[in-house]
Amino acid sequence: MDLSLDQQLRALVRDVPDFPKPGILFRDLSPLMRDPRAWRLVVEGLAAKVESHRPELIVGIEARGFLVGNALAFAMDRGFVPVRKPGKLPGPVEAIDYSLEYGSDRLEIQEDALAGAPRVLIIDDLLATGGTAAACASLVEKAGGVVCGYGFVAELTELSGRNRLQKNLPIEALISY
Ligand code: AMP
Repeated sequence: MDLSLDQQLRALVRDVPDFPKPGILFRDLSPLMRDPRAWRLVVEGLAAKVESHRPELIVGIEARGFLVGNALAFAMDRGFVPVRKPGKLPGPVEAIDYSLEYGSDRLEIQEDALAGAPRVLIIDDLLATGGTAAACASLVEKAGGVVCGYGFVAELTELSGRNRLQKNLPIEALISY
């Protein structure tokens, strides 16, 4: 019997205990990206899941969201917009501050990146607590975009990140832990 997509992809995710700090089990997607067949399955699998949400633009969150989001945008023939850490984007930006477990962080988007109120799909590599994706959604709305859904390669279901995202929007993930 063929392995499910989830099983095939999961076999190529490297679990790294205590990275980047003690107590975190880091799900390293690098081996997935290194394998062109597996990476194609990731990108095409995500594209198939999100197509019906009719995104006009893909927004990727720095840094691994760029790798997933830009590949997806190319595969779906959509534009890509980066959401970055502070001070990286030139020109006027919109910004949002959000709280982390310890301290806070900030995300930025170029002010004119979402002109025309496009439908935006938010992409990151992994959904954990949902704080990053929720902040990105607020930023997209602040910049005039309309969030039509979220896509992740992997989701850590025990952290219930979904509950922090807008309830009525679709959230797609290829691998559930
Ligand atoms: P969160 O805001 O808690 O949903 O965290 C999401 C962000 O942190 C994503 O950009 C992930 O790349 C990263 N992240 C959080 N936890 C992990 C983990 N266990 N393994 C890999 N990346 C993680």
